Amino acid sequence: MDLLAVKKIGPKSVQILNKLDIRTVQDLLTYYPYRYNVYRPSSLNEINDIDVVCVNATIESTPKVSYIRRNFNRLSFKALANDFLINVVIFNRAFMVKNLDVGKNVCLIGKYNKQKNSFVANDIKLGWITDIKIEPVYHITKGIKNKEINSFIQNAFLYVDQLLDYIPKSIQENYHFLSKEEAIREIHNPKSSQKLKQARLRCIYEEFFVFMLKINYLKNKNENIKGIKKEYDEEKLENFLASLPFELTTDQISAVNDCLKDLKSSKKMNRLIQGDVGSGKTIVATITMVANAYSGYQSALMAPTEILAKQHYDTISFLLKDFDIRVCLLTGSVKKKEYEEILKQLKNGEIDILIGTHSLINEEVQFKNLGLVITDEQHRFGVNQRGNLQNKGILPDTIYMSATPIPRTYALTIYQDMDTSLIKTKPNGRKEIKTYVKKESELKSVLEHILKEIKLGHQIYVVAPSITENEERNVHDVQNLKKSFFLAFQGKINIDVLHGKIKAKEKEEIMARFKSGETKILIATTVIEVGVDVKNATTIVIFNAEMFGLATLHQLRGRVGRNDLESTCFLISDYDIERLKVLEQSNDGFYISEQDFLMRREGDLFGTRQSGDMIFKIADLKKDFKILLQTKEDSKIFLRDTKNMEEKYEKILKSISHID
Ligand code: ADP
Ligand code: MG
Repeated sequence: MDLLAVKKIGPKSVQILNKLDIRTVQDLLTYYPYRYNVYRPSSLNEINDIDVVCVNATIESTPKVSYIRRNFNRLSFKALANDFLINVVIFNRAFMVKNLDVGKNVCLIGKYNKQKNSFVANDIKLGWITDIKIEPVYHITKGIKNKEINSFIQNAFLYVDQLLDYIPKSIQENYHFLSKEEAIREIHNPKSSQKLKQARLRCIYEEFFVFMLKINYLKNKNENIKGIKKEYDEEKLENFLASLPFELTTDQISAVNDCLKDLKSSKKMNRLIQGDVGSGKTIVATITMVANAYSGYQSALMAPTEILAKQHYDTISFLLKDFDIRVCLLTGSVKKKEYEEILKQLKNGEIDILIGTHSLINEEVQFKNLGLVITDEQHRFGVNQRGNLQNKGILPDTIYMSATPIPRTYALTIYQDMDTSLIKTKPNGRKEIKTYVKKESELKSVLEHILKEIKLGHQIYVVAPSITENEERNVHDVQNLKKSFFLAFQGKINIDVLHGKIKAKEKEEIMARFKSGETKILIATTVIEVGVDVKNATTIVIFNAEMFGLATLHQLRGRVGRNDLESTCFLISDYDIERLKVLEQSNDGFYISEQDFLMRREGDLFGTRQSGDMIFKIADLKKDFKILLQTKEDSKIFLRDTKNMEEKYEKILKSISHID
């Protein structure tokens, strides 16, 4: 329903409200306060100097206004509070003077200094607050005040029946929830903290319930999708396994078994492989693709960057060099003629495994019989890209690989519709990466360390948040660091620069030079975050570490420590040291992601995901986790037991193909 229908809202207000993502009357009514001011009157005797308090008083002297300078005025009067005569001051409220007369009752909110007997108020309410008063506080934007939002909402209550209630009757009764209307009213006009709590609980529950309903629905749907039942020659696969240059870890073996079991089943595979950086997910993917090829189907492996796609291609084609399986790389930088040749071979089935980036989802890329789609670092892709690739086969099996260890909370919700394989242990010979948080002023010792490592024949990554100098942000940038390092080492050491704006072809050359050991120091942005594998690199220095999430830093750190050499990570920062110290203490990606999760706002966590579905309006994944678990169960039962789904549910369930 249109916002203009609401009394007092005109086109101008609509514009401002839109900025707050309020587009309909429903949006307005569910524009929840993010916190509340609670006023509880106290007596002057019982308060101290520090607390913001709320005191009932009666005005005793005519209020005086003095204008100190432009935009700065002072209003003062004497007032009687609990039989004490006190001096009251409030700044920049000259406009209030017309409402304040001797004898009037007011409620003063602010701090009281006993010694000076003065009350510095930051707000004055007309009349006494006898009971507790709870005032909603909304996020605001330029051109609108808290009070106005609240008054718009009050006017919108006329249409409160427009809000659909998604909590099923039986559940409503079972938990004795307030009605939706009552709850919404209470949230915007709280009467008591207890009732407010009930109201919030109800709305949080509803929000989670709808979310989990969708997830459970998807899960059921996936379970019922028939996939292709694949059969392959076990002996041939054994031969391939026997050729691997290393023994698989226990976790890798069980992940491989999970994948092979799914491949052979008639159910469509929908699996997430979660494993910390360097845990060896690529080989699991490779083995599954080999089995898929032996079943007579093609596979596609999609990586988020060209560098990574190329690297996968190198690794996988090396492993398959003695086998009769054709691997091909398709990226944006493939020449037209070659590109067309690849497309042809893909269509007639000559290519068994296609590796690439986003370019795999171009419409013209057509497979003969795509049976398996693997997405690496899947959190980097949006739903549409994923969906496209899936549509190319007749229900190909799908595997998502993620190196971002997902906190339990997060995984439970978002990936609940997928099966999961965990790779927890790292291949033998991996050492912990020693990590140090250093101040800018301690850079000298870092440089000494770098020099020492280079003398040992090792290589260094340096990471900065920006490509070029940026006056607004005042952070280190790749270009200037290159200059500084050049000077610091007197031009005697080969330094290269890598960032997202460099052309693909050139990027490849830069990576090749670093891999070959020609370049000693690679200064880069986070383009090196995912998957890049150069075993000889032993040190990574990350500038302005405070700019990055812990999970990202952990990913970056995973670029080193890729063999049995001692490896080091330096986090350079003058800020946010406490948070960064988590990395000094732990090399466990799961622990780190939990910490990251606890320290970050939910919005950041979902920053890489696109849909508004993911951001809860009133619920908080962290605080309300127990409610989430409850709705998970309740929505499952509801789905199971409901024969004729009401239209409103049909509508939300039909609107999703996959939550991402
Ligand atoms: P990630 O899980 O981060 O994608 P990779 O698949 O790139 O990890 O593997 C990291 C490195 O570990 C690669 O160089 C790979 O060859 C090596 N590796 C993987 N599995 C094993 C193993 N079982 N034993 C020894 N090295 C392994
Ligand atoms: Mg990887």
